Amino acid sequence: MLGAAVAVGLAALSAAPPIDLEVDLRDAPSGVVHARLVIPARPGPLTLVAPKWLPGDHRPSNAVAELASLAVTAGGRPLAWTRDPVDPYAFHLQVPRGADRVEVALDQLAPPAGQGSSAAGSSFTSQLGVLGWGTAVLVPAGVPAAEQPVRARLTLPRGWKASTALPIAAREGEAMRFAPASLELLVDSPVLAGRHLVELPVHAPGAPPHLLVVAAESEEALAIPAELRGDVERLVAEAGALFGAYPFASYRFLVTLSDEIVFSGLEHHQCADMRMPERALLDPVARRTRAGLLSHEYVHAWNGKSRRPQGMATADFQAPPDARLLWVYEGLTHYLGWVLAARSGLGGARLPDSIAVAAQGMASTTGRAWRSLEDTAAAAQVGYGARSEGAYARRSVDFYWEGALVWLEADARIRRESRGARSLDDFVRAFLGGRSGGPAVSAYRVEDVIAALGKVAPLDWAGFLEARVVRARPEAPTAGIEAAGWRLAMSETPSSLQAAQERVLGSFNLEASVGLYLSDDRVVDVVPGSPAARAGIPPGAKLVAVNGRKHTRQRLEDALRATERGGALELLVESGERFHTHAIAWRGGLRYPVLVREAGVPDLLAAVAAPRTVAAVHAPAP
Ligand SMILES: [Zn+2]
Repeated sequence: MLGAAVAVGLAALSAAPPIDLEVDLRDAPSGVVHARLVIPARPGPLTLVAPKWLPGDHRPSNAVAELASLAVTAGGRPLAWTRDPVDPYAFHLQVPRGADRVEVALDQLAPPAGQGSSAAGSSFTSQLGVLGWGTAVLVPAGVPAAEQPVRARLTLPRGWKASTALPIAAREGEAMRFAPASLELLVDSPVLAGRHLVELPVHAPGAPPHLLVVAAESEEALAIPAELRGDVERLVAEAGALFGAYPFASYRFLVTLSDEIVFSGLEHHQCADMRMPERALLDPVARRTRAGLLSHEYVHAWNGKSRRPQGMATADFQAPPDARLLWVYEGLTHYLGWVLAARSGLGGARLPDSIAVAAQGMASTTGRAWRSLEDTAAAAQVGYGARSEGAYARRSVDFYWEGALVWLEADARIRRESRGARSLDDFVRAFLGGRSGGPAVSAYRVEDVIAALGKVAPLDWAGFLEARVVRARPEAPTAGIEAAGWRLAMSETPSSLQAAQERVLGSFNLEASVGLYLSDDRVVDVVPGSPAARAGIPPGAKLVAVNGRKHTRQRLEDALRATERGGALELLVESGERFHTHAIAWRGGLRYPVLVREAGVPDLLAAVAAPRTVAAVHAPAP
């Protein structure tokens, strides 16, 4: 699309000889995936590799540590393999004279807890699971993933059903044979499988076929409310209106509903793999907390899959990505996820609520003073697995939330500069919209982002991004909120989004008052410099008592409210082997972040959240 864009076709198969892959999931309910590969080879040295950088994970896969068996043969004779001394993902062997292929048999463990908490890993319970093909293969080193054809077969456990974006050539009972596909497409097309699984068509005018596919631990959890289907239909319609094209032939929202599987979301070109609690879609409050995941992962089909930073469009899965543009890949996706959720009314989403929680979180992140937003992206591969404790001081994967706030500011600047004639929608359509069909990838550099923004509004975008992204900036990132005619304020009652998050997740977010973030009785983190930090409460401690009485959330809430009337706030916490009482100097009561309108400044959030399609006219305004 842009002059500098590099096309790396997903399905561009070369003449490289195909690998035959058979994956047997019949033992997956007990956590084992069996795979057999027949790999064409020539006599001499051969290096096979386990994919290391699975797209969308933004960090090395841990699946190679879950190998439970590996045997290589040629013509029925065992071949010795040796692990590379410095690259644990690589296996070296000698192909004997006369052989034209090697056979690889491997067992891969795929427990419910996933493979090193990777979102791209395979994960199974006795009832359901997701197969990530990239964690079930070894492939010849040095072959571009788009040029390595694979002919895959899959056997399911008895009585299970499956759904995948990978084109199926033939189906016979629990066995499936797939059309030849590139390794890139295979790895990008996970299989959702389970005993209880439904495929629900999602209709939107002018859109290619979409399916909402749900696999659940129980038949009861499959009772998807009609309301949710309506929300998803409006989401698809609103995305079409925003981007102007659908860059895929069909799309699947693959949803795993299980309390045993680690919750995650992973984007793919023609599907999204979203793992959430068993009743996450049934209960309206729980749905509210998960709705953003659907819109976020869906936006990635455009931003991240069709269009990708050049440093992340690597030829194979072994080359490390340059992740510095994750504030575009994830940050813009997060912003557009909010926008599309609000426009389609997905889960009752309100744009100001999403923005308020993110802005308060980033305002509390004191690490902003020493690290830039770009630096959090460059360090993403260690940021994802980092502890929650200490994240306010260290920073985390802030390119999601702060990235989204930067894009809100860009949107507000365009709308103000053009007096409402143009918006970030124009940039999104030109930069990410592309053509319908596909899938195909085109890469971009930061210069392309700046040039495309400049075509929408003649502002100093290079200077803007230098100040917001490249340089560390201690001030809270609220300029976009203010430019949109709102400001971050405090309220005694949480927004409905925050209330839902706290009820569903068991969290208690006191960032804006005493500076604590609690998960049930655990002190997840303490805002540096806050009243709780000055009282000496350490991150990671356990909250035992409030004002001398056993801790419950209600008692803590009551005690916080009473501080406004002069009440004391003494917390007994357990840290390591010791107990300490900390008196917190605080008179401000309970405070939750909300956005309030700034009188006399036009309300741009209402304009951002306004539906663009007739299908969504009943969606609530912000
Ligand atoms: Zn994402």
